[in-house]
Amino acid sequence: MPIVALAIALLGLALGSFAGVVAHRVVRGESPLGGRSRCDSCGAEIAARDNVPLASWLLLRGHCRSCGAAIPLRYPLVEAGLAAGFAAAYLAFGDGGAAEVALACAFLFVLAIVTLTDLERRIIPNVVVGPAAVAAVALTALADPGELPARLLAAAIAGGALLAVSLAYPRGMGMGDAKLAFVMGLFLGRAVAPALLVGFAAGALWGLMLITRHGAGARKRAVPFGPFLALGGVVGLFAGDRLVDWYLDSFFGG
Ligand SMILES: [Zn+2]
Repeated sequence: MPIVALAIALLGLALGSFAGVVAHRVVRGESPLGGRSRCDSCGAEIAARDNVPLASWLLLRGHCRSCGAAIPLRYPLVEAGLAAGFAAAYLAFGDGGAAEVALACAFLFVLAIVTLTDLERRIIPNVVVGPAAVAAVALTALADPGELPARLLAAAIAGGALLAVSLAYPRGMGMGDAKLAFVMGLFLGRAVAPALLVGFAAGALWGLMLITRHGAGARKRAVPFGPFLALGGVVGLFAGDRLVDWYLDSFFGG
């Protein structure tokens, strides 16, 4: 079992690196699958030895080998995060079968990509959320087909709620956030409720911190909301069902 967890962590590391490539290319309108990666600054092709997840970034101390341009810290952080997330998903959902683990890992992979695209360009691309929605439905059909109606309902409510917020407050939230909430509902079912609450709470805390540090000027700072939704998604994945049960027990139980 520890060997399997390690293998899944390595898969997470590799897919974390792939998430970085997909995010980097999609926001530039490139195909995520074409050719070798290049440095943004000097255009040099990145050699295989400089493309090893995590290790290359550490050895190069976060700089391009050719021109010395900085490689953002978010890339190795996402690689490490996905490695840890995949191992945690295996340990948490392994008893439920391979499809359960695949569903959780696919969700984490999607959250990794949209976190990167939203941080870099403030977009949550359709070419990511579209296939993510299809994958969520397909994997749920394999893992737990009886859950499908509940997942679709959760997706409609979550996506609809954020769509309403984005229409009322377009500067704070975009259509991309609403589409991400829809996908989160597909992956999480009822656990999307605590996920959204955590996302909103974290986003509000961050906003308060900015106002404390930068005063009224903070209002003009546009903060991408996707990473907060992604954080909520991680909490929803690993603790959401327990949080919903606790809530129902506390307020409606005996
Ligand atoms: Zn370079």
